[in-house]
This record gives sequence, structure tokens and C-alpha cells, in this order.
Amino acid sequence: MSSEVSRRLVQRPWGGLGADLERSDWHDAAMPADLHPSLVDAATTPYWLDRPTRPAPRAAYDVNGTADLCIVGGGFSGLWTAILAKERDPSRDVLLLEGNRIGWAASGRNGGFCAASLTHGHANGVQRWPDEIETLERLGRENLDAIEETLERYGVDCDFERPGAITVATEPHHLEWLRDMVEGDPDATYLDEDAMRAEVSSPTFLAGVLEPHGMALVDPARLAWGLAAAAESLGVRIHEGTHVTGVARGGSGVDVRTASGAVVRAAKVALGTNAFPSLVRRLRLHTVPVYDYALMTEPLSPQQLDAIGWRGRQGMDDMTNQFHYFRMTRDHRILWGGYDAVYHFGRHVRPSYDQRPETFDLLARQFFTTFPQLEGLRFSHRWGGAIDTCTRFCAFFGTAYAGRAAYALGYTGLGVGATRFGADVMLDLLDGVDSERTRLEMVRTKPLPFPPEPFAFTGVQLTRWSLAAADRNGGRRNTWLRTLDRLGLGFDS
Ligand SMILES: Cc1cc2nc3c(=O)[nH]c(=O)nc-3n(C[C@H](O)[C@H](O)[C@H](O)COP(=O)(O)OP(=O)(O)OC[C@H]3O[C@@H](n4cnc5c(N)ncnc54)[C@H](O)[C@@H]3O)c2cc1C
Repeated sequence: MSSEVSRRLVQRPWGGLGADLERSDWHDAAMPADLHPSLVDAATTPYWLDRPTRPAPRAAYDVNGTADLCIVGGGFSGLWTAILAKERDPSRDVLLLEGNRIGWAASGRNGGFCAASLTHGHANGVQRWPDEIETLERLGRENLDAIEETLERYGVDCDFERPGAITVATEPHHLEWLRDMVEGDPDATYLDEDAMRAEVSSPTFLAGVLEPHGMALVDPARLAWGLAAAAESLGVRIHEGTHVTGVARGGSGVDVRTASGAVVRAAKVALGTNAFPSLVRRLRLHTVPVYDYALMTEPLSPQQLDAIGWRGRQGMDDMTNQFHYFRMTRDHRILWGGYDAVYHFGRHVRPSYDQRPETFDLLARQFFTTFPQLEGLRFSHRWGGAIDTCTRFCAFFGTAYAGRAAYALGYTGLGVGATRFGADVMLDLLDGVDSERTRLEMVRTKPLPFPPEPFAFTGVQLTRWSLAAADRNGGRRNTWLRTLDRLGLGFDS
């Protein structure tokens, strides 16, 4: 994602903002009486996972055994760790345990924006680590190039493309923010209203900024499935349906215990468990799961495509705190997501939270306000998923169990690309490698934890309310947001 796209994501770490401030878990069953007709037949599974080509489940792990490296989690974090571990040392015995299915969670249900940024955007990175931002951005570009090269090398077919990004202004006060974006970025092009609408036609677009580099688009589920196949081709053992219930020191390594009672004695463990409760208990306050929602349209007809333009197929978002992200698929569907993002009291991750009819209804209405020329188009899929938000909005890293386990967490909605970098960091830490990565302040420091309940819920809701108010008030931030800004928890515009 472009640096500025991500910069503004930093302003809204809870994703988008719900219109309501009530406890969101009181609303889960609510179905608006006037659910938008375009949604009536939409499947409630993530589009990317709803494919006949989804690989059959792999067997669960059910015997006691050993491994040089045991990886917990079969999303991008775990899969990249598996591949890189084998590439570094082909003789290493690598076992990956996934509690559900490969790529079923965030990795298989995201927008597919694969950004070069490791810091959730330039502004967040430069604010926190001004002395190393150039290194971080170079490492991010190298990481994205390496993703492309790896996919080619293993023949991973996931519609990887690099069309660049466009950020659009939809309110007059965004225009100044857009001009700030292009300042100092020789790659960025300012698109005035006519130029913007010539690129992608919408009556709500007042201007835009085109950034041709720094972001790729992928089909995320096929990326996860392809990475799993690549890992297996290198000799990685993958087991699905294997929930890990605990990790403890054992002998000179770590014992990884599964729900079926099987134990893996592993020399090292890498944890890629994202928004799910961490197996390192002390980390549980460091992230909160925030639910983000998306819709997928049916494929557009040639006439509908003509009506919107968008020949450059760029990944797009808008500038409000309650932002939308949107993109085309290879078969000319539009993914439309964001705006509402919901934190449930108690840090819970539950399947029922993946569906939120009132959010889908709102997203559908906003879609047709943006693209009225597509009235009559229907959505084929509607879904949500949990994002692991931390207070600094980009990943943090570390070790536990006397250096025998490593973790990378807190990607905060921008982990499709950055998880590969995080995998390299975890392996550096486990292998005791002194690298450019491990010397980074970003890698050596940790974000402040969130408070326990009820303070976490209250703080998130107050922040959501404040960001929504800022959107209504020409971007002006209230005392609460300015206080968070001062504490380094804020969302500087
Ligand atoms: C709706 C949505 C849209 C998003 N859009 C984007 C985007 O466009 N661009 C972007 O960069 N990022 C986006 N993200 C974020 C991105 O998807 C994540 O940062 C990334 O996929 C994280 O990968 P992961 O492997 O760490 O986590 P996950 O994909 O969540 O994988 C973690 C895995 O660990 C497993 N697990 C957890 N605990 C255990 C256990 N105890 N035992 C066994 N297995 C366990 C889970 O079952 C899961 O499969 C989005 C996220 C969502 C939800």
C-alpha cells in the first residue's frame, strides 16, 4: 500500500469506525429490515475461500514426535516462516501446526493489498523511528520484491500484480492532506478532480494521489494455499485441524501440546497466531482483535466496466477516518471493504462476529453512492475477520521460553506483505543471527499494551467516537485524540 494510504490508516487503527457506540456484541444478530437488495443472495463465506480449487484438508497431528522447528499458525506468518526456514537450512526438520485450515483466518479473507511498508505507512514509521525510516523503507521494498521473486520461483499462482495505489479525497478538507502526500514523494502524482474521475469515475471523488510503486495486489487465499504447497515441496510437514493448547519448556527445547494430547518436542518454536490468544500469556494485553468487513460484487459486465473506467486496476482507498478500501479482481469483481470496524468487549475472537448485517447494509449503500452507475449490480459474498491491532500499528517481535520461541504480532491490518519480513525476524531471533533486521529499534522495542477490560473497551469506543467526530468536523481532532497523539498512540493526520 502506498505510504500515504498507510499513513492515513495510522489515523484509524481500529480500521473504520462504527456509526454506533453501543456494545457491538449486543448487535450481532441484528438484521436491518431494509437490508440492501444487492446483498440478499450474498454468501456469508469470504469470497477468496469459496473456491472449488480450495485444497483438501491435511490430516491432523496426533502422535508424539519431534521437530527442529515447530511453527504454530498456518496463515502468512507461519507459511513464510516455514519456507524461509527451509531455504536457510534445508536439513532443518520443520513442522507446521494449524488449528483450523491453511489461510482460513485473516490471511484468506483480507483485501489482498500487499504493501511494501513494514511500518503501516511512512508517517507512522517516520514518527516512531525517524533515524531508521530509510532502512525500514528499503527493507520493505526488498521484502516486496522478494515476495514477487519467490512466487515466481515456486510457481505460486495468486494473481500477483503491481498496479500501484490511488488514494481519493471525498471531502474538501482531504484536499490539503492529498497535497501533503505528494510533497516530497517524487513518485506520487496529484490527480485533480477531472484527472481523478478520468482514471476512476465516481461523483464522490474530488481528487486523488496516484502512487505507482510500493503496492501489489494478490488473491490472498490462493497465495496462502500456494505458499503451503511451496513449503511442502521443501519438505515441511503441515497438519491442519491441530489446535495447540500450550507451550512449555521441555528438555533442551520446547514441548508443544495439542488439543488431542499429542506433544511435539521441538528445539525451537515460531508463533504466527495473529489475533488469536497468544500462547505467550504475557503478550495477551499487547493486541486487541478488531473486526473488519468486506463485500465482493459479482463480475462486472463490459458495459459496467466502461462506466467506471479504472483501467489501471489500482488498489484504492479514501481519506476519511472511517475509510473504505477497494480493488478489482482478475475477473472484474470489485472488493469493497472497511468503514466499520468493531471491537468486542473481552478481546474475543468468535465465528459469529464474522457476520454483521448492519455493516454490510451500510457498506452496500456507500458502494452505490460511490458508483451510482453500477446500480443493479449484486454482491456475491459478504464477510468479516479479525485484525490484530497493537498500539503502534505495526508488528512487534520477541522471544519467550529462554529464546526457544519467537513471535511476530500486531500487524494491525497491514500484514499481507509484512508477515514475510516478520518471518525473517523470527528466524533471526531463533537462530541467534545478528542481522540488520535484529538491530532495528523497531524490532528491539515493543508497543505499550492495551489496558485490561473494561478500560480497553471504553478506550477503543472513545477513540472510535472521536475519529468519527473528526470526520464530521473537517478532520479536527478532539482532546482525547490529541492526548493519544502526544503519547505516541495517536493518529496524526
Ligand atoms: C477483513 C480483513 C482485511 C484485511 N485487509 C488487508 C489488506 O488488504 N492488506 C494487508 O496487508 N493486510 C490486510 N489485513 C490483515 C492481514 O490479513 C493480516 O495482517 C495477515 O493475514 C496476518 O497473517 P497471520 O499469519 O499473522 O495471521 P492469520 O492469517 O490470522 O493466521 C493465524 C493462524 O494461526 C492459527 N492459530 C492461532 N492460534 C492457534 C493455536 N493455538 N493452535 C493452532 N493454530 C493457531 C489460526 O487458526 C490462523 O490460521 C486484513 C485483515 C482482515 C481481517
